[in-house]
Amino acid sequence: MTTTADLIIIGGGIAGVSLAARIAGDRRVILLEGEDQFAYHSTGRSAAMFIRNYGPPVIRVLNRLSEPFLRDHEGFSESPLLSPRGEMTLDFGVDAKEFDVYIDGSKGLEILSADEAHAMVPILNRDRLQRAAYEPDASEIDVHMLFSSFQKQAKSKGADLKAKQMVEALSHQDGIWRVTTKDDVFEAPIVVNAAGAWVDHIARHAGIKPIGITPKRRSAVIIPGPEGCMDWPMIVPAAEDWYAKPDAGRLMISPADADPIEAHDAYPDDMVLAEGIDRFSQATTLEVTRVERSWAGLRSFAPDGDPVVGFADDADGFFWLGGQGGYGIQTSPALSSIAASLLMGQSIDADLEASITPTRFNTKIEMQA
Ligand SMILES: Cc1cc2nc3c(=O)[nH]c(=O)nc-3n(C[C@H](O)[C@H](O)[C@H](O)COP(=O)(O)OP(=O)(O)OC[C@H]3O[C@@H](n4cnc5c(N)ncnc54)[C@H](O)[C@@H]3O)c2cc1C
Repeated sequence: MTTTADLIIIGGGIAGVSLAARIAGDRRVILLEGEDQFAYHSTGRSAAMFIRNYGPPVIRVLNRLSEPFLRDHEGFSESPLLSPRGEMTLDFGVDAKEFDVYIDGSKGLEILSADEAHAMVPILNRDRLQRAAYEPDASEIDVHMLFSSFQKQAKSKGADLKAKQMVEALSHQDGIWRVTTKDDVFEAPIVVNAAGAWVDHIARHAGIKPIGITPKRRSAVIIPGPEGCMDWPMIVPAAEDWYAKPDAGRLMISPADADPIEAHDAYPDDMVLAEGIDRFSQATTLEVTRVERSWAGLRSFAPDGDPVVGFADDADGFFWLGGQGGYGIQTSPALSSIAASLLMGQSIDADLEASITPTRFNTKIEMQA
């Protein structure tokens, strides 16, 4: 049976579902997720942080645009989306250059002496620590609440969100995209590629030149929480070669790995975890004796590190929504709103549009060359 819609979104992570929530009601939306459950991949594996000053300049703009939505949950979610955590960027001397780059252009940071930072997080290695930048407004995101509220909103506006629908083929004829899964066929004039680590695979299925959006593995472990740790902010050396944050009475440590890898159901590499824990141990006085659990997920980056949002210039009705990197949860309110505007032919800030459009990679020109 063939089902028709105005728009078919491929991917049931935060990108696809938040867009469905924004645009359903104005357009008939079908969303296809290949797995049995939504948010199974990157969206369900994040560190769940909102850090206003995290990321390159375009991401910082998107953070700023997303923050009011995340702070004011009334009428959207049953409970607040953000809770206070704070974030501390650390300079151990070797990170001095990265530290200066980080604070340049950052907003709302308090510069702390090594003693002040150590008083807040007593496990920090006082002998090595030089200074810190504290962002008191950095917050934990209730990702489950954010995702399920977008999901609820999408459904209530009439979007048809379908799991177990792995897209296997796409073809385009007479202005209509035909999207084929194992058991079903769907048709619409517009297809949105929100497949996370698999966006380039979807482009290939559609006969469109991939952009080179590369999945990079990021891993984490949970260790028993040291006493008092729930009062600590997230701690990150400016060189970002590990980070740690309190997590429900325990401590999450990430090696901050960013190894390029084929899109797959990601799992951690024991050696990468061990090396990351070693870097954490050298920067602190905490001995890690037991790991309770570990996981990995994929953060997908375009060649210039900025998101890719907009219509392709090498195929009619093919819309990219990918390359959210390590910021796809915190930027989802802005990115979904921008994507919905572009899909409905509404204008957005011209500079921002130029920074995120897929046409910046000149796909058409390269194909013709
Ligand atoms: C360890 C880690 C920590 C992170 N920390 C943060 C953080 O603190 N803050 C933050 O903002 N971001 C963070 N991120 C990044 C964030 O998780 C991602 O940017 C975001 O989840 C990307 O969402 P997505 O919907 O694009 O991808 P996904 O959640 O991966 O969704 C894409 C979906 O597409 C589906 N799909 C793929 N191919 C097909 C197909 N052929 N047919 C049908 N469906 C298909 C997949 O099954 C998947 O469900 C972190 C990521 C990791 C891994």
